[in-house]
Amino acid sequence: MSEACVQRSTATVRNVDDGDLVVGGVGRRGFLGKMGGVLLGLAIALPCAGAGGSEPVTFCLWATSDSHVGTDLKRGRESLADGIRQSEQGGGDGGRGFDWDIAIHAGDFSGNQGSPKDDEGKEVVRQFGALKKHHRAQFYCIAGNHDATLPGEETQWWFKKWVDPMGKNTQYSGVDSRRRPYAVEGTWERYSFRVGNILFLMMSDRNDGGPPVGRGKKGGYPAGAVTGKTFAWWRERVEKNRDCVIISVHHHMLRETTVASGPWEGFKKGEKGEWKGNYHGYYPKGGPKGASYLYFLDEQPDAQAFERYLAAHPGAIDLWLGGHTHAKPDDRHGGRSHLERKWDVNFINVAALTRYHGGRNAMPMSRVLTFTEGANKVRVQCYLHTSEYAPQGLYKKAERFMELSKPFRTARPRARNPE
Ligand SMILES: [Zn+2]
Repeated sequence: MSEACVQRSTATVRNVDDGDLVVGGVGRRGFLGKMGGVLLGLAIALPCAGAGGSEPVTFCLWATSDSHVGTDLKRGRESLADGIRQSEQGGGDGGRGFDWDIAIHAGDFSGNQGSPKDDEGKEVVRQFGALKKHHRAQFYCIAGNHDATLPGEETQWWFKKWVDPMGKNTQYSGVDSRRRPYAVEGTWERYSFRVGNILFLMMSDRNDGGPPVGRGKKGGYPAGAVTGKTFAWWRERVEKNRDCVIISVHHHMLRETTVASGPWEGFKKGEKGEWKGNYHGYYPKGGPKGASYLYFLDEQPDAQAFERYLAAHPGAIDLWLGGHTHAKPDDRHGGRSHLERKWDVNFINVAALTRYHGGRNAMPMSRVLTFTEGANKVRVQCYLHTSEYAPQGLYKKAERFMELSKPFRTARPRARNPE
């Protein structure tokens, strides 16, 4: 990979809360090489590679989702660790490595159809141990439907204990919030962080709590869910941060945005016209119409709260990143690809790291997003983690440049509203 992100080291410097400038993982190797130390509280405007001074500063986000660790492990594959090793060291099939400043994982760490258990949590943490050039706190994670607990269990205990975005269970999760390159604010269910003028709004899925919104004893209900509180939190931050590049992350895509994200598009019809599982398992009592998208707001099915807001406020956010539906790189089921633009917003389905969860539709891949200082376009590349579909590494055919509402700046906007 000849991109500017190659060969950079990673950030250990936290952003500062009260200044208008931010320190991050942006082009740090060259900077530290020259300065020989860590500076806090200053904007670093640096070239990524080589520190030659002429290359633009970039911020590289590795966007992953749906590792379904338990499912792949049963077949002898380390879906999360393999992806990490390939990004840092290159892959066994010749795919070149790439560097990244931070990563997201948009949920579905578990492959369980019931509620996940400690053994799979330990395995997730063990696979994060594959990180050698980066550390765990550079991964920002949210819960997917498969990570959810069942009614009667402590709400989302598994995700809070083993994935732990707030770093409250460090002894289990290994997440040390003091090492976050960009500090998080919020809760396991909804939190934010800033990278220069980019504001990330991270929202976990709420597939706990029982049918029809949440999964029941019979299996994992795929339809996505958030609470009204989470939607209100999102809207408030969107409206207070109009000077930012806003990236929303949820496990599910919104309705009719990307591949197979429309009503009933999770399934196929059988010979007698009956619904059969395809991208998602068919559970008649679990809101099957919305199996492929963010379907519930509290108890309300097909609520479309985000969709209506964005239709009324085009360009209110810049990117929506999600996963959930595992589809091959060129799949266009429903007439949509993995990368689409609607309501002046870019939607990217970044799934999935798994090879075996989702049957024939799964093909391990992730996305690399490169933001360049001063540029109002983000480069989005697709990385194939196996060679089954096309040679391992960057899949050129899927590369796009997507428009941002304003240029990326490593400096935080001056007129920032408080959280
Ligand atoms: Zn999912």
